[in-house]
Amino acid sequence: MSDIEIARAANKKPIQEIGQKLGIPNEHLLPFGHDKAKVSEDYIKSVQGNKNGHLILVTAINPTPAGEGKTTTTVGLGDGLNAIGKKAAVCIREASLGPCFGMKGGAAGGGYAQVVPMEDMNLHFTGDFHAITSAHNLLAAMLDNHIYWGNEQEVDIRRIAYRRVMDMNDRALREIVCNLGGVANGFPREAGFDITVASEVMAILCLANDLADLEKRLGDIIVGYRRDKTPVYCRDIKADGAMTVLLQQAMQPNLVQTLENNPAFVHGGPFANIAHGCNSVVATTTALKVADYVVTEAGFGADLGAEKFFDIKCRKAGLKPEAVVLVATVRAMKMNGGVAKGDLNNENVDAVKKGCANLGRHIENIKKFGMHPIVAINHFVSDTDAEVAAIQEFVSGEGSEAVLCKHWAKGSEGIKELAEKVVEIVEAGKSDFKPLYEDDLSLFGKIEKIAKEIYRADEVIADSKIRNQLKEWEEQGYGNLPVCMAKTQYSFTTDPTRRGAPTGHDLPVREVRLSAGAGFIVAICGEIMTMPGLPKVPSAENIRINEAGQIDGLF
Ligand code: ADP
Ligand code: MG
Repeated sequence: MSDIEIARAANKKPIQEIGQKLGIPNEHLLPFGHDKAKVSEDYIKSVQGNKNGHLILVTAINPTPAGEGKTTTTVGLGDGLNAIGKKAAVCIREASLGPCFGMKGGAAGGGYAQVVPMEDMNLHFTGDFHAITSAHNLLAAMLDNHIYWGNEQEVDIRRIAYRRVMDMNDRALREIVCNLGGVANGFPREAGFDITVASEVMAILCLANDLADLEKRLGDIIVGYRRDKTPVYCRDIKADGAMTVLLQQAMQPNLVQTLENNPAFVHGGPFANIAHGCNSVVATTTALKVADYVVTEAGFGADLGAEKFFDIKCRKAGLKPEAVVLVATVRAMKMNGGVAKGDLNNENVDAVKKGCANLGRHIENIKKFGMHPIVAINHFVSDTDAEVAAIQEFVSGEGSEAVLCKHWAKGSEGIKELAEKVVEIVEAGKSDFKPLYEDDLSLFGKIEKIAKEIYRADEVIADSKIRNQLKEWEEQGYGNLPVCMAKTQYSFTTDPTRRGAPTGHDLPVREVRLSAGAGFIVAICGEIMTMPGLPKVPSAENIRINEAGQIDGLF
């Protein structure tokens, strides 16, 4: 059965029953239909005194086109923990609507480890992304309007640093000229669109602690520079208050359920390259107040996703994760070991062994954060016993353990062993989380530390323009910010074709950007796309409503 067929057959409970499992009273659930609800801001305030539950991160090896299944494993582990009697919730990201019409699969997990309603989750859901799009574009409109009416702030229109966004893959809008058409329409200039998930407003919503923090961070967005290079902030354009109004509802986390009727918070979805790629701080901290175990996911492989989860999200929100699950698959190990995609269904133990180098480096890296990783082998039907055994043997050699998990095929029943082992790790207090670097390390020093310790690069290559820019930001008081690395997810290096555990590479930094509202410096290493395009045959061509009124073709 396909993911969507399994999801359609789900035996969903009313969302109030899911809230009850976490002790959330009905009046604090703001329902969207029968199977989705926002958790009220008042309720979130009221549980701040509760003790925190245990936070578990699910991350993965470097992704391959073979697919790893981080979300599937996050959802499965949440169900597995519930199945062994723990009060557990999962926290995952919302889906971007644009890519669903291109070729990307869904964001709700897969097989028998899914969050429902998956059609809604992959489309408009509770409207959060629309709210973010509107808030973002309000500032863009107010900025051009400010310039039109005399430009009191003296914004240099050649140095505008704020683009527009929409939640659609539309390469036609990447670079545009706006304000055309004469005096009444303003001053023509170059501009462009990014996809909504790449918006700094999205990153801010996901890192803000509450509405007051949200408003402050929105005010801190740099929209452009004056001729003397001083920054012009969103606050100078006076958009921060109205943007906060547009985001008030969107700040409240969404509660839905897994196929096994366990609670799932689905909230926020920042890009994992120019932003940090985790669900919202509000959802995670709220889940920790109402559940004993919270399982969450970070985007891409552990070199990018887990590093940013630890160094940006956990550092800023004061979170203390207690276990890390590293997802690996036999197929991805084979690809890392040099097997072509078309040959993945043939047994190849040697390639698995060779590809394990990639897994081994991620295990070592996770230990650098004081964490004790456990490996989940996400089982595919084509895997052979000998291949699975090869991974398990390798991982025990690294002082860790790899557990075979069949949640995709069997739901919680297939992942109980992992759930038990995760509880053991947490209860034994095997992890003692610490970020990779201190706040007061220089900005360049932070980039260097990540490059050398996590990517194992020899040197960071950056010209003096970039180094001077970093120094300038330090002088302006931004030196204590963490760094958000934007690099290919397919390799430890900046070359997506170098799989496994490459050495002998440098990290070239092409550009640095200050996300003053989100509170990080983005270091761009290689080409980063902030507005995707559609493929030659977009999946939209096959998406339609069938005779039974159901959505076909989404997955
Ligand atoms: P990630 O979060 O790492 O991007 P997902 O969990 O979203 O990956 O899974 C990507 C796709 O792979 C989904 O369509 C899912 O159904 C599929 N998938 C995941 N695990 C398995 C598995 N064990 N067997 C077959 N397909 C799987
Ligand atoms: Mg995912």
